[in-house]
Amino acid sequence: MILSADLQAPLRRLPRTVVPAADESLDSYLRRLAHANRLNPDELRRWLTGNRKSDPVAVASLAAVSGRPAASLRWAMLELCSRDDLASMRLRTRPDPFGPTRPECRLCSLARGHEVAPHCRHLHEHVVCLRHQRWIGSARDQTMRTKPSLRQHPEILSANVQHRRLIRRHGRHSVISAFREATYIGRSWHQRQEHDDSYRELMERFHGADWMISTVDPTIPAATYPQRVALTMLLMKHRWPDKPADESPQLAAFIGELRRTAAPNYEWSRRSYYRRRDPLVEVIDARYDDPDVLGEFDINPRNDTNWLERHLTYHYAGSAGRFRGLPNID
Ligand SMILES: [Zn+2]
Repeated sequence: MILSADLQAPLRRLPRTVVPAADESLDSYLRRLAHANRLNPDELRRWLTGNRKSDPVAVASLAAVSGRPAASLRWAMLELCSRDDLASMRLRTRPDPFGPTRPECRLCSLARGHEVAPHCRHLHEHVVCLRHQRWIGSARDQTMRTKPSLRQHPEILSANVQHRRLIRRHGRHSVISAFREATYIGRSWHQRQEHDDSYRELMERFHGADWMISTVDPTIPAATYPQRVALTMLLMKHRWPDKPADESPQLAAFIGELRRTAAPNYEWSRRSYYRRRDPLVEVIDARYDDPDVLGEFDINPRNDTNWLERHLTYHYAGSAGRFRGLPNID
């Protein structure tokens, strides 16, 4: 066991090493390394930074203490990289290294030999562990401690397969844009208890009849997910060069497909409900009348495809040769 007094000594390798998970946050890795060596994570950080807790952790120090090669630490935790490191890597399919994190699937973590589940950044479609058929949710679901089983919910699993397929076919950028719109619409309908028959059916399968749950229960985003993916597909498919008139054949075709796939009783209406219009009408109108408003529908703006360019342009803290302390850019 390492004693606190030992932490005043020069850096040396700890008895137990820990393999970093892909896209793990530095905080999570330090917590797991400290746990494996029975250390306090804050003391470990101070040891690495020479007692200055707020200073960035140098990758060379972490390599010396963890016994892991610096290159593998950088590759797993992109926040350790310098600007030049990032520019030389192939990062097309990696999530924003400064985005929010969530715990990985516990069963995957155990299979990889992690005693404690690492907290990792993730791409927006990685909300389901298809291998273990569990809902792992997004970093937005900060409060979720359980990962609901999806063994009785094939709709949610196949929605995730469709979601990933959409990204392979059409590219991440266009899918995430439609998925944000769809999530805004789906959440708004859910709050108003509209078009939520499939949600209620899925919730009953999760919890039985007469279910009552907390408003932050992870089954809520899971049960709205198939509708959000169906809406995403529709919103991607139906993009018109000009705003369609209310009685136009384009809009009629769109609504017909919407009723078949995502909202069987949907009626297109510009009436307001408690001063709010139907969210689908809002999104379609905003596309043509005020595209800037679409930013308000963002659900997780950090998880996009432009994070590298954005950080290089606006948020590079040059002198230390690394990124640090990024302000809120949402
Ligand atoms: Zn898993």
